[in-house]
Amino acid sequence: MTPADRALASGRWVKWIAGASNQDLESIEDLAGIYALAGVHCVDLAADAAVVAAARRGLAWAEAHGAAPPWVMVSLSDGEDPHFRKAWFDPRRCPPDCPRPCERVCPALAIGERATGAPGVLAERCYGCGRCLPACPQGLIEERSLVLEAGTVAPLLAELRPDAVELHTSPGRQQAFEQRLRQLRASGLALRRLAVSAGAEVSLPELWQRFAALRAWGHRPLWQLDGRPMSGDVGAGTARAAVALLAARSTGMPPGPLQLAGGTNGSSLPFLQARPEVAAACSGVAFGGVARRLLQPLLAAAQGRGRALRHDPELWPRALELARSLLQPWLERS
Ligand code: SF4
Ligand code: SF4
Repeated sequence: MTPADRALASGRWVKWIAGASNQDLESIEDLAGIYALAGVHCVDLAADAAVVAAARRGLAWAEAHGAAPPWVMVSLSDGEDPHFRKAWFDPRRCPPDCPRPCERVCPALAIGERATGAPGVLAERCYGCGRCLPACPQGLIEERSLVLEAGTVAPLLAELRPDAVELHTSPGRQQAFEQRLRQLRASGLALRRLAVSAGAEVSLPELWQRFAALRAWGHRPLWQLDGRPMSGDVGAGTARAAVALLAARSTGMPPGPLQLAGGTNGSSLPFLQARPEVAAACSGVAFGGVARRLLQPLLAAAQGRGRALRHDPELWPRALELARSLLQPWLERS
């Protein structure tokens, strides 16, 4: 049994989510390194060769500092999904006096400033949260889907060689889900886990159908319960949503570990512990937006000094301390 499997079995599994469409290589490299050193069991990345290479550079740094290597997971979807999109607009169409609400609402600082001369969406930073879409009074912002074509999945996965894959699914997509499993098989990969990411809208009977398909293809499932997908700015409300979905799923689910996600933050564990019968069903947690936001000021400070965060001897220990403050309660959970 690997340390990651032991963590799942003991309810102490922690995953860091970079974002299924996040391609900000510099921050991914740093955050993968810092969160690996802080103790995550898995890093969840976009299925993109440059992203996986950047994360592996960060993980190599963490290993050199004594970290156990976490699993590398890449995310796919079986159809259109908000996790797999980017925003786009043509800045030449923006009125010159627009106060740029789009820029203010973006949690990823992915909309460039007018002053920099790059006032559109910085695609590599955009992770598709969708906040900017309704913010534009002119309705200029559109979303562009990033769902992979069927023929590209097997060769891409064979190239990336992840330890695990996460498949995002939605209601009514059993056939598309099974097609993705066939493409996975064609890659020749032996995966440690096949995680299924599903929100409250996917019914239990449908989850049992997904389970039957996973077992037919020989996969070990991991259920990611996406309480409040793409919540970005997280708070007590989103943490409650994730725990509420776990409570609803704590009986009647197909076999396999249940992991919280979608709106998780520092409030998630106290909410969970207030409901011991639900807590007992929980195998762990994934942190996305909150993990990024926690270290964003230090990433920016390092950038201002012209170096990577993990190469700044003053800043990276502070980043590690912050990352540990988020993870430690889960890693030491009784
Ligand atoms: S607000 Fe969200 S969708 Fe819009 S640019 Fe920023 S990260 Fe992308
Ligand atoms: S809010 Fe709309 S019009 Fe204003 S800068 Fe953003 S995209 Fe352009």
